[in-house]
Amino acid sequence: MGDGALLFGGALFLGLSFGSFLNVCVLRLPRDQSLLRPPSSCPVCGERIRWYDNIPVLSWLLLRGRCRDCGTAISPQYPLVELLVGGLWVGALLAYGPSLRALSGAVLGTILLGIAITDARHYLIPDEFTWGGLVLGLGLALASGGGPGLVQGLLGAAAGFLLLYTVGVVGQWIFKEEAMGGGDVKMMAMVGAFLGWQGVLMTVFLGALLGTVVFVPLTLRRKRHVPFGVFLAVGAAATFVAGDAVLAWYMEFLRGI
Ligand SMILES: [Zn+2]
Repeated sequence: MGDGALLFGGALFLGLSFGSFLNVCVLRLPRDQSLLRPPSSCPVCGERIRWYDNIPVLSWLLLRGRCRDCGTAISPQYPLVELLVGGLWVGALLAYGPSLRALSGAVLGTILLGIAITDARHYLIPDEFTWGGLVLGLGLALASGGGPGLVQGLLGAAAGFLLLYTVGVVGQWIFKEEAMGGGDVKMMAMVGAFLGWQGVLMTVFLGALLGTVVFVPLTLRRKRHVPFGVFLAVGAAATFVAGDAVLAWYMEFLRGI
């Protein structure tokens, strides 16, 4: 087995493991429960889940999506999230090679998926994702760019925070109700640490565009809270992948006018 296979195996293992952990996060964080205790158990019969029934994707398949003890169906969300995060970590390695950029993309993507799930489900973005992600993002910025990298990350975080905070204040003033949740503001500080201030602008632009196209028609008919974090998550992911290319194209475009 070559180094490449070992590397991809490692990325897959890490991705599946973090996917499994993300399942615990999206289940417990919105309820303010500890991530460590108690150990996972079946919500119906209460039996503790044995380690060999807790292996990402495989266990769900072997158990045919049912609890070993009481036969209650286990949501396919569990293996699906594990597969998604596993694919994300392998995909990042494929796209960027064994680099800090790959690690950065995999970490950011994992956090964004967690945010999208909790925001869509509970209209809630846990601090663990935003503040925890902010620390990770700044750490990666420092590791990949040294002092200037850290400054870039800090600037991005400040830009994300201030931009969304301002939108929230102005929105409240115009609509007389909360337009921007505190979770969205903290989320964009986190995104800024990973993507820099230009990335913040592109993320908010894409998120607002997507939110308008997808959600406004629904909202106009039946007034509902908008999980803006979902759209920001998609915008941030798109910016990470294509942001530099789009920015370069835009600069070229401006020069051409
Ligand atoms: Zn059970």
